[in-house]
Amino acid sequence: MRVRGVRLASGEVIRALAVVMNADLLAATSRLIEPSAWPADFAAKLDALEPATSMFSVHLAVRGAWPAIPPIVHLSSAGGQVEIVCPSHVDPTACPPGFSTVELMRLVPQDEAREWFEAFAARTDGEVYKARKTAEADKLIALAEEVVPDLGARIVGRWEASPLTFTRYTRSTSGAVYGVRGASIAARSPVRGLVFAGSATHGAGFEAVTISGASAAEALLPGVLARGTACKARAEWGEGVREAAWRLPGGERWRTSWGG
Ligand SMILES: Cc1cc2nc3c(=O)[nH]c(=O)nc-3n(C[C@H](O)[C@H](O)[C@H](O)COP(=O)(O)OP(=O)(O)OC[C@H]3O[C@@H](n4cnc5c(N)ncnc54)[C@H](O)[C@@H]3O)c2cc1C
Repeated sequence: MRVRGVRLASGEVIRALAVVMNADLLAATSRLIEPSAWPADFAAKLDALEPATSMFSVHLAVRGAWPAIPPIVHLSSAGGQVEIVCPSHVDPTACPPGFSTVELMRLVPQDEAREWFEAFAARTDGEVYKARKTAEADKLIALAEEVVPDLGARIVGRWEASPLTFTRYTRSTSGAVYGVRGASIAARSPVRGLVFAGSATHGAGFEAVTISGASAAEALLPGVLARGTACKARAEWGEGVREAAWRLPGGERWRTSWGG
């Protein structure tokens, strides 16, 4: 079994020698490719995976400067936990002068995330869903006021994000914000020409997923990470493919060809 390209939602087919699958692993491996394509042992491995933790967050536009506290504060008190982040504290261009941008976040375990989906997946434009989001955000704001006492009074704009919101924007399974729990999938998939990238292979976080991109390239083109070494691409591409060319992000061109 090997990949031949991708079919877009519009029906358009884009032929490709290789496909890098970076979308949410659980969703992509079950919906973007026919699940019967996976060998049984790999299918069993996928079945055992669970989505990682989700999140509830509220994003605030706040009048006035940020107080003299760090731009990121992890608050854990009797009232609960909240991460308080003020991006405009380190990047003043994030908002107009005289205002601050503030994000309040709480990790949501999967049991709780599933409750959101069971209750509201069918309808996120209803008043009950909005009220639940407002109540959750109010709790985070009240908690953050232990650090920034006048925070609530200074809010001029607020946008809540529930586990459903994270799925809406990233198509993640069950609102997961950190991919799959205990990610350990190899970049090279059992389907020839198909490699994985993203948090499924190297874990969540910007650094890990950046490294995962390099690993995906290496899986497709062994030796590409070691400049000056011979390219051993033929074994990857298989019979019938004679030539391939790449343009690297810096503009440099790579051309590989082989006879036979
Ligand atoms: C609120 C929040 C805060 C975070 N804060 C931090 C932080 O401070 N530091 C840190 O290191 N990490 C942080 N993370 C985690 C970090 O963002 C992720 O680990 C990382 O972005 C995962 O990268 P990825 O490439 O695996 O997936 P993603 O960044 O989710 O990329 C996958 C892409 O695939 C697209 N996609 C999915 N399905 C399809 C489809 N069917 N067709 C086409 N496209 C599709 C999605 O739209 C998305 O653009 C945070 C995450 C969240 C949600």
